[in-house]
Amino acid sequence: MPELPEVESVKRTLAKKLPKGARWTEVKLLRKNLRVPFPKDLEKELLGTEVEGLERRGKFLIFKRSTKDLLSHLGMSGTWRVLKAEEPLKKHDHLVFGFDHGIRFVYNDPRRFGLVDWGGADSPWLKNLGPEPLTKKFNPEYLYALSRGKKLPVKSFLMNAKVVVGVGNIYASEILFYAGVKPHRKTHSLTKLEVSKIVEETKRVLKVAIQSKGSTLKDYKMVNGKSGSFQNSFRVYSKDGKPCQSCGAKIRSQVLSQRSTYWCPKCQK
Ligand SMILES: [Zn+2]
Repeated sequence: MPELPEVESVKRTLAKKLPKGARWTEVKLLRKNLRVPFPKDLEKELLGTEVEGLERRGKFLIFKRSTKDLLSHLGMSGTWRVLKAEEPLKKHDHLVFGFDHGIRFVYNDPRRFGLVDWGGADSPWLKNLGPEPLTKKFNPEYLYALSRGKKLPVKSFLMNAKVVVGVGNIYASEILFYAGVKPHRKTHSLTKLEVSKIVEETKRVLKVAIQSKGSTLKDYKMVNGKSGSFQNSFRVYSKDGKPCQSCGAKIRSQVLSQRSTYWCPKCQK
C-alpha cells in the first residue's frame, strides 16, 4: 500500500509533467466509482479550468485549483501513469485526464480502494489529519504529550493518521527498528528519550525513502511502472527468520492489529 514516500514520489513525477496553468481538456470516466463514487460534477467542473499545482497531504495527492481542489488517494493498488500518444488504455484504467499541453494522465487501480473526490483543507478527508511528519509540528513534545494515557501498541499509534500522516505498515516497522522500540510496546510506556528517537527516525527514514522513490512491492508501482528502491534497504519489514543486520538475531514477525509486524528481538526493547 502506498505510504508517504510513494505518494510524494508520484506527486513529484507528475508535477514535472504538469506546467503551472495547464488546463483540463479531457476528463474520461471509465466506471462510476472507486471506493466511493466519482463526483457527479467532475467533468463539468474540471474541463477548461487550470491546475495551479500538485501537492500532497498525508497520502492524498491534491490537484490545486482556484475553486475546489481535487483529491486522489491511491488506496491499496492505485497508480497514475503518463499516457504516451496513441497508447491504448489497459485493464483497470478507470480515469483519464488530458491537458492542453498534450499530456494525459491515467489512473489505474485493480483493487479499487483508491478514491477521487473534491476537497479543501476543511474536507472530511483532510480535516482530521494529524501533522505532516517532515514538518516542525511533528516534534518530540507533541508526540510525547499525545502518547500519555494511550495503551495501544506504539506501532498502531504511529500508523494513526490523526497522530501523524503517511506512516503505514512498512515504514512504521522500519522506524521502530531504528528507534530501538518494539512494535508491541504500550504507547504510554514510552520514555521521553524513546519518543524523541521515534520522531527523529520517522523523519530520517521517510526522507531516505523519498530519495529512493519509495518501496516497490506487489501492488505499488511508480508512475509509468518505474520502481522505487527502498525495499532493498529494509532492515525488518518482510525479513522474518533472517538474521538482523545489526546483531545477528533472527527477525521475528507477528500479526499485530491485523497487520504483519516485524522486529528484532535484541535491538528493539
Ligand atoms: Zn538486531
